[in-house]
Amino acid sequence: MSLSRVAGNVGDFAWVRLIFTDLAGATRAVQIPGDAFEKALRDGVRVDGSALEGRNRLIETDLVLRPDPTTLCASSARVARVVCDIFDYEGNPWPLDPRQTLRQMVESTSVASSGWTGAAELEWYLVRSDLMPVDSEGYFSYARGQGEQLLERTAAELQGLNVSLTGAHHEAGPGQYEVNVAASTPMALADTLMNARTVIADMAHAEGLIATFMARPLNDLPGSGMHIHQVLRNANDDDMERIERIVAGILHHGPALCAFSAPTINSYRRLHRGAEAPSYATWAHSSRAALVRVSPTDGDAISVEYRGSDSSANPYLVIAALLAAAEIGLADELKLPAPLEESVEGVGLAQVETAPTQLPRSLEQAITQLLGDEELIDCFDDRLIGRYAEDLMAEVEASQGYVSEWERQRYLQNF
Ligand code: GLU
Ligand code: MG
Ligand code: MG
Repeated sequence: MSLSRVAGNVGDFAWVRLIFTDLAGATRAVQIPGDAFEKALRDGVRVDGSALEGRNRLIETDLVLRPDPTTLCASSARVARVVCDIFDYEGNPWPLDPRQTLRQMVESTSVASSGWTGAAELEWYLVRSDLMPVDSEGYFSYARGQGEQLLERTAAELQGLNVSLTGAHHEAGPGQYEVNVAASTPMALADTLMNARTVIADMAHAEGLIATFMARPLNDLPGSGMHIHQVLRNANDDDMERIERIVAGILHHGPALCAFSAPTINSYRRLHRGAEAPSYATWAHSSRAALVRVSPTDGDAISVEYRGSDSSANPYLVIAALLAAAEIGLADELKLPAPLEESVEGVGLAQVETAPTQLPRSLEQAITQLLGDEELIDCFDDRLIGRYAEDLMAEVEASQGYVSEWERQRYLQNF
């Protein structure tokens, strides 16, 4: 259903779902009757801020959701959906709203205002309630099992919601799938990724399956990446120099970026451990072990693919952080090191000419890297960084107090 058609008849929908995300990247929603939508557009909708507590604690403030009418979409006649920005009662953008954080980054960086577009790959596993993958297929499988049939319907549903896909396929792990999202503006890309995750999960749920975007849900199998491609013009030497600086900016801030792009305890079982996921801040033309892969794409454009993010990351914050790192690379005229076409583990660290920086090995290290990277955090509101780091640290504390099955198996009868 086209956007204009939806916008013209929104009162005809029984319900409109107002969608937003919390800091941790979880999707939140409030439903209002279709005939209340016009008022919502005019006055916003008041919500209890504690719904957005993130992982840590309650926020007492009441907040106002303001629907962004350009995001209105629907694939059925009953329920429309619209993405919202979050304001406080005085009408100020709420500093912990990931979407407005991205908007402010777009407005303040030259990279974004000079025609930046970004595409993405989103991977997930389809598992049954016992956590067994829905199939035992692999990369580009041609089989027509339940998973593939569901993928086909999910892709159609996404297209019905105006999500422009360039592809969909079975990924390497059993029951692992991927969709490719076409290039768009930073905000449209983040909205799409956030919407896509919920649609994919809803459709799986309707079949009694779980679609998980956890970074690495299964032992001995690949993790799920959410690769972000910055599509950059490469028509002349100036463009090339620009691209090199942007890549250099991402590598330089690579360790701190992980706090946004690999935001859970589990994310570090994908980085360093998951097949085709990075462990060092390197770049390459073809190696899938690199943090950034640079390859030609349509026309005279080049794709700068950031492979550090997993599917559990908050897309608004990841894209905002990538824009910030790119901007710093340009402003500081950072120099690009030589590419590394193999994994550091494959060649051995001693053989690599200039030793690359290792990415954090844990969420705790990522938080330390983030808080130590003043240049990067200066691009964000202090309140967002403070609260975000606090939430991540609470997650670290929670995990450290938990005794895992692995520990029991290893130690229970050992002493
Ligand atoms: N699943 C891999 C990851 O965790 C990526 C595989 C691919 O290159 O598509 O990032
Ligand atoms: Mg993939
Ligand atoms: Mg990729």
